[in-house]
Amino acid sequence: MKLADVLIVTTNSPEETHKLGITLSALTELGDIICLHGDLGAGKTALVKGVAEGLGINPTKVNSPTFTLIHEYTEGKIPVYHFDAYRLKSATEALEIGTEEYLYGDGISLIEWPEKMESLIPPEAYHVYIEKAGSTLRTFKITPPLENGHS
Ligand code: ADP
Ligand code: MG
Repeated sequence: MKLADVLIVTTNSPEETHKLGITLSALTELGDIICLHGDLGAGKTALVKGVAEGLGINPTKVNSPTFTLIHEYTEGKIPVYHFDAYRLKSATEALEIGTEEYLYGDGISLIEWPEKMESLIPPEAYHVYIEKAGSTLRTFKITPPLENGHS
């Protein structure tokens, strides 16, 4: 992805979030790591479904991989690695599962609950901050890596 500045997008339905994911997918490049921050029900998985669809993956296959940590979707244009670190106990546990092979592998990584594996997230990662602004209103703040001078 080549994102020069912070991008703020508001959606008002899961479908709109899905479309945002499709749009975002067009900007992604091999090796991109995208961290999705937001509470339960914020729309992290909804966004991942859109990104997956944009890359040629059947979005109905995408669900929160709560019990598996990583789901790998390889039938699209680019492999998508979908992490849900919610139940992760430590970064060490993540390492043991082989997280780094995915993060530095030949695909795009989308990470739900990245704060659970913060020490493993490289500085070149993109961060998306999702906030619930109402029952169906969501604000997505998509930020380029910190090393590009943004915070
Ligand atoms: P998360 O992965 O962040 O826990 P999900 O994507 O699984 O969240 O779920 C989001 C929930 O919020 C769904 O039940 C969805 O129907 C609802 N929702 C309501 N408005 C939106 C919106 N604008 N974008 C995404 N989801 C929304
Ligand atoms: Mg989820």
